[in-house]
Amino acid sequence: MEGEDSLGDMSPEEFRLHGYRVIDWIADYLGHPERFPVLSKARPGDLKKALPESPPAAGEDMSEVLADLDRFILPGVTHWNHPAFFAYFSVSSSGPGILGEMFSAAFNVNAMLWKTSPSATELEEVTTEWLRQMMGLPEDFSGVIYDTASISTLCAIAAARESVPGARIREEGVAGAWAEPSGAPAPPKRLRLYASEHVHSSVDKAAITLGVGQAGVRKIPTDDQFRMDARALEAAIREDRENGWLPFCAVATVGTTSITSIDPVPEIAGICKRENIWLHVDGAYGGSIAVVPEMRWILEGCEHADSIVVNPHKWLFVPIDLSILYCRRMDALRQAFSLVPEFLRTAESDEVKNFMDYGPQLGRRFRAIKLWFVLRYFGAEGIAGRIRHHLALARDFAERVDKSPDFERLAPVPFSLVCFRARPAGFDEASLDSLNERLMGRVNGRGKVFLSHTKLDGKFTLRLAIGNIRTTREHIDLAWDELNEALSESVGS
Ligand code: PLP
Repeated sequence: MEGEDSLGDMSPEEFRLHGYRVIDWIADYLGHPERFPVLSKARPGDLKKALPESPPAAGEDMSEVLADLDRFILPGVTHWNHPAFFAYFSVSSSGPGILGEMFSAAFNVNAMLWKTSPSATELEEVTTEWLRQMMGLPEDFSGVIYDTASISTLCAIAAARESVPGARIREEGVAGAWAEPSGAPAPPKRLRLYASEHVHSSVDKAAITLGVGQAGVRKIPTDDQFRMDARALEAAIREDRENGWLPFCAVATVGTTSITSIDPVPEIAGICKRENIWLHVDGAYGGSIAVVPEMRWILEGCEHADSIVVNPHKWLFVPIDLSILYCRRMDALRQAFSLVPEFLRTAESDEVKNFMDYGPQLGRRFRAIKLWFVLRYFGAEGIAGRIRHHLALARDFAERVDKSPDFERLAPVPFSLVCFRARPAGFDEASLDSLNERLMGRVNGRGKVFLSHTKLDGKFTLRLAIGNIRTTREHIDLAWDELNEALSESVGS
């Protein structure tokens, strides 16, 4: 049998030694991410082929592990922290966010109960309250931190489902939840949820998970600026009621994924109130902009919502993952999920929040600490200033598109995403899609900038999203030059 000495963790001295090396590595990386192609050039299977098929039997020196990180892992990394990452929604992990994340791993607390780490629970309450104030949301919204917006939205829709009057879904399941006024069992009712045709797929996934089903999600058409048509929503609810559906929830989006359009939340809120259905607002990307005081209008109407999700890991410089669900009906959220077995009962449960009561998972990471580091280090004004800068960069890029004879803009730019396409002379509509697809492939293949795409009104559309904390005007110039050069090559090819 081995001696006990060989069974413990890495020694503090060795940890310190490698820890300094790791910090140096990260500092160099953050200082010069442009050394790497922003989009990985790895081919499928590259890493799997490079690594042994079986784990090492004996432990290895950490220096070798770090060397292999450079050799094998780095080539397959797409650099989301690169300032010319303009694809999807550009995100960033800032220095203070990374430092905060280290404490989360070092403490390794499980933030399931107040008792299992009072600081984790109370810091979650404090930081979500600070951000609520920064966004100008009403005081009756409380925050809960989850990993992603998909889970925040799932939990919000679960609370909406739990709030359906007279249904006992929690106890009986969707099929058996219904009763006649006499108390006798009634045939099941089909739940219906409403969202615009541009809603994020996480809403459909939540419906699948919660037994609402894809057929239970009714997509409402949008207007010429890709915003939900509120009158069509009202008509759909009316029609559904006549046909035996049970409308229970609407999801409005502030900043849709493809185009950052903004649904008319004040009108939608009025309809939800009249119809007595839950209003959830998806502000996963767009909600953050409300920390800029002059942009707060973007959340107009959200004061009437039942819940709203915002992702600090998208545009608030916090490393992935950290999403906040703000909810005005925490009792409904708790009712949807709270289930306390004997071994988790605590004496102080009436005085404190036990966050395990507000979601399906028991174990919870100490995510609030990285948000606290970010909010403290930059301050509300520092964060607003950085987002304001991104808005200015997006306007600058949109102006170049508007002035160019070779490009056209395909959607308004209320946030920091520009939707556009190349449209040089001599190309008809039928050939523009393949031209733009080739153009995107060429730009991304060059490795200096990374763009993504969507389809708008059937047109292949390029998306340039600004949101990385290190992006400057220089990177916008670079993107524009790369696009123009690649276009000349694509037109010629
Ligand atoms: N909602 C919107 C509007 C989004 O743009 C996204 C992702 O981009 C999501 C939800 C899902 O976010 P997450 O990856 O945090 O689940």
